[in-house]
Formats: sequence, structure tokens, C-alpha cells
Amino acid sequence: MNGHLAVVGLGPGDASCLTPEASAALADADALYGYAAYLDRVPARAGQARHASDNREERARAAAALKHASRGARVAVVSGGDPGVFAMAAAVCEEIEAGPESFRAIDIAIIPGITAMLAVAARIGAPLGHDFCALSLSDNLKPWELIERRLDAAASAGFVIALYNPVSRARPWQFGAAIERLRRHLPPSTPVVFGRAVTRPSEQISVVTIEHADTVEADMATLVIVGSRQTRVIARPGKLPLVYTPRAAAEVSA
Ligand code: SAH
Repeated sequence: MNGHLAVVGLGPGDASCLTPEASAALADADALYGYAAYLDRVPARAGQARHASDNREERARAAAALKHASRGARVAVVSGGDPGVFAMAAAVCEEIEAGPESFRAIDIAIIPGITAMLAVAARIGAPLGHDFCALSLSDNLKPWELIERRLDAAASAGFVIALYNPVSRARPWQFGAAIERLRRHLPPSTPVVFGRAVTRPSEQISVVTIEHADTVEADMATLVIVGSRQTRVIARPGKLPLVYTPRAAAEVSA
């Protein structure tokens, strides 16, 4: 009676992006925990309890799910994209580390999902074709100065940068400030990809240069990929361009 907790990645939105492993883990659970909008994506199953919570209550949700599992149940916590990328898997680990000994006896399964940067990259070519990094612009859990330092380091080291959480209602200026910061390191022609609500009905993809990147509207469902000096754009008549970063780095400095 150790209990079982699966932390399940739902992918970027469309059901076709849910892995068979994730589907099986969801079907197998006695109870589901998650942000209400994510739980709505999971097909209903008779007898399965659902515990919806607010997006910001990650630690509390993780603790509640662990407590439930420690009573011997099969519990699944759902996450958008991949649960290990700015999401629930780390919150669950934090609660296990800080929690009672009984949490350590629970069987834990982390079920991966397609993360937003991979879904967006796939829509537009291969912008992550060479070295890249991912950064969350949310300063809820870290100071803004640290984000600026990481933007400086990543852009000056020649990484393509995937920006998660570019904007929220509580963080209206951070995205513009980040672009401003990156412009110090990158030429004005550097391509920037905006992928909004990818694989959902309201999907929108656009490509601009970094010079104009702060004029594009980004929101909570947008993932931004900022190219490196190597990233290239292939224009195509009547179609979105292909944006890619060649596999061979041309310069040592970038
Ligand atoms: N665990 C998630 C990320 C959670 S952080 C994952 O692996 O994708 C939330 C951020 O992810 C959003 O602010 C946005 O930047 C990005 N995101 C999530 N779903 C997206 C989608 N369908 N299209 C574009 N960006 C998305």
C-alpha cells in the first residue's frame, strides 16, 4: 500500500500530441489533480475523482496529491507540455524532499510530454537545430536581475533561447525588457519566432526580426524563440518561412 503518483505531461494542447504512455497513465488513475484548464483536456472516466486548483498553487497541489497517494491510491498530477519543464514534476520533488517519510515510499512515475518549445520549433523549421537553452521570464520564483544575467550570458554565448512565460497580467513589462536586453548582444536582423497556443484552435505563428520583436503581442500562451547569429530564415512564397539554425557553428565567438 505504498501508493502511486504519476506526473503526466499532456503536451501542448491537441489530443494527437498526447503520448500513448500518458493516455494510459491518465486512464489508470483513481484521482486526477491539476490546473482546471489542463484537467478539462483529459477525457472523463467514470469513478475517477478530479481535484482542480488554481495555476499558482503548485506546491499545495503537489502536497495534496502526495498525501492522497500515500493512503494507497493511484493518483495522477497533470501538467501542460512536459511535466519536467517549468512545471509540476519539480514541485512534486520539492514536496517529497520537504515532506514526511511516507512520501518517499510512494512509487513515482514522471511521464514526459511534448514541451512548448519543441512544438513551436517543429511548426517553423529547425530553430533549435544547434545549441540552445530555455529560460522562463517569470520573476515569481527568481529575481529579475538573475533573469537579465542569464539573458546576457545565453545571448553572448551564442545560444538560441526559448523563452517560456514571456508575459502575464501581473508581468506586463518583462518581455519588452528582455528583448531590449537581448538586442545588446544580437544584430537587428536576428529572427524571433512567436508561437501562440500551438496545436490548439487559436494557434498563431509569426516570425519577425529582433528589431521589431517588442511590437508583437505575446501572452501567457506564447512561447518565443530568439535566434542566434547563426539562425537563418528561408522565405517561401505563400507559406510561413522556414527558420533554422545550422548544425555546424561558423564562428568560435558566436
Ligand atoms: N510545462 C510546460 C511549460 C509550462 S510554463 C511545457 O513543457 O510546455 C507555461 C508556458 O509554456 C507559457 O507561458 C508558454 O510560454 C508555454 N506554452 C505552453 N503551452 C503552449 C502552447 N500550446 N503554445 C505556445 N506556448 C505554450
